[in-house]
Amino acid sequence: AVVVTDLAHRFPGTDTLFEHLTCTLLPGETVAVCGPSGCGKSTLLSILAGWEKPAAGTVERHGIARVGWVFQNPYGVPERTALDHVVFPLLAKGERRGTAEREALDAMGLFDLKYAADRPFSALSGGEAQRLMLARAVCSRPDMLLVDEPTAQLDTRTAHSVSHVLGNLAGQGMIVVVATHDPDTRDACQRIIDLADYAPGGALSGEPGDDQAAPAMASTPAMASI
Ligand code: ATP
Ligand code: MG
Repeated sequence: AVVVTDLAHRFPGTDTLFEHLTCTLLPGETVAVCGPSGCGKSTLLSILAGWEKPAAGTVERHGIARVGWVFQNPYGVPERTALDHVVFPLLAKGERRGTAEREALDAMGLFDLKYAADRPFSALSGGEAQRLMLARAVCSRPDMLLVDEPTAQLDTRTAHSVSHVLGNLAGQGMIVVVATHDPDTRDACQRIIDLADYAPGGALSGEPGDDQAAPAMASTPAMASI
């Protein structure tokens, strides 16, 4: 679990972004971090990862050995295939090529990307590259997966499908935190942290723990394969 207590942040020269944020993130849930542009969503992910030191408050990470990140901007090796990008980290962990390729293709299948497995990274569209980064991150099975604006480059239908998969990653027992301003993605998550609620002087300022609970969602059959 990740226990966040009375967290506040501001950068030198900026106003306070958020304050009095208290919440506990449990394995098996996907949490959406919402709020307007510039409210501190990406910053909160950095703080959860331990990259950025909060101005006040604490983040305790219990049982979190590996943290995965999916950045807003996909990056890769232009001449390497899409499949290579997912397989390499698995080979580096000592998996055999056959096993690694099967796992990689399963993960790519989750994000409807198998058709592009043999294309060079340079040939992928922005949305395909984004989904490739998601497949790779899921494959590495982090304890906590931080995802920044995963649907920004996707059409409505693909965005919906990706949101649904992210919402259901819970079944794998990881903590998934998704920074998003896509209502569809937000609705696919089990819990919502709206940073607008924690803006200085905001309605809920000083009244932490107002995360909305949503019904838990069942795993999709596809999730059973990885
Ligand atoms: P978006 O929806 O546009 O991605 P966001 O909610 O993710 O926005 P952040 O990237 O977390 O916003 O940034 C929050 C605010 O802090 C912004 O105003 C940004 O300019 C500012 N900021 C971010 N990093 C730094 C930094 N290192 N130094 C100073 N200000 C920063
Ligand atoms: Mg951001």
